Amino acid sequence: MRLIIMGPPGAGKGTQARFIAEHFKIPAISTGDIFRANVSEGTELGLEAKRYMDAGEYVPDEVTNLMVRNRIDEPDAVSGFLLDGYPRTLAQVEELDGMIRFTGHRLDAVVCLTVDQDEIVDRLLQRAQVEGRADDTEDVVRRRQEVYLEQTAPLIEVYKKRGIVHEIDGLGEVADVTQRIFSALDVIPES
Ligand code: AMP
Repeated sequence: MRLIIMGPPGAGKGTQARFIAEHFKIPAISTGDIFRANVSEGTELGLEAKRYMDAGEYVPDEVTNLMVRNRIDEPDAVSGFLLDGYPRTLAQVEELDGMIRFTGHRLDAVVCLTVDQDEIVDRLLQRAQVEGRADDTEDVVRRRQEVYLEQTAPLIEVYKKRGIVHEIDGLGEVADVTQRIFSALDVIPES
């Protein structure tokens, strides 16, 4: 199973990604998490990524693509993966297509969480306080929304044309959102 979870920053992708990945026994690969780990370890990749992350901008495609390519080549991702936060640009869509085609597989589904913009900004500001995320100041939060709308929202149309998008209402209780995702993906929940 090869899946993508999409949606604006703050839509709850990371939380839902964990449940989906657990169900399908595949790794949830979050580019944001990998970048943050590199930043805290002070790697060269982290140093490069930090400048962009702190400004709410995207890390350049070449850097991000290579990182994802290396990650999905790891043994735990051979039978499938869930990507959270990638692809985010049209160039990344093409790159991912190439990576998946190379392995002889296909992208099975794109889960797209929809949420109200105002609700999102509130959620992100709360998260910034709770998690102490350096990249979550109000200006940066707003910039990340803009960048998402400009660069990433158009990707949904690309995947819609392929008929693999499941649009899910991301508002409400976490468990309810998970239920919506699972029923869209035809998953019978384990009790
Ligand atoms: P996230 O936690 O997914 O919101 O990612 C945090 C930050 O990491 C983003 O605001 C970007 O600066 C960077 N980032 C994560 N994924 C990507 C990507 N696919 N392309 C470019 N930059 C990314």
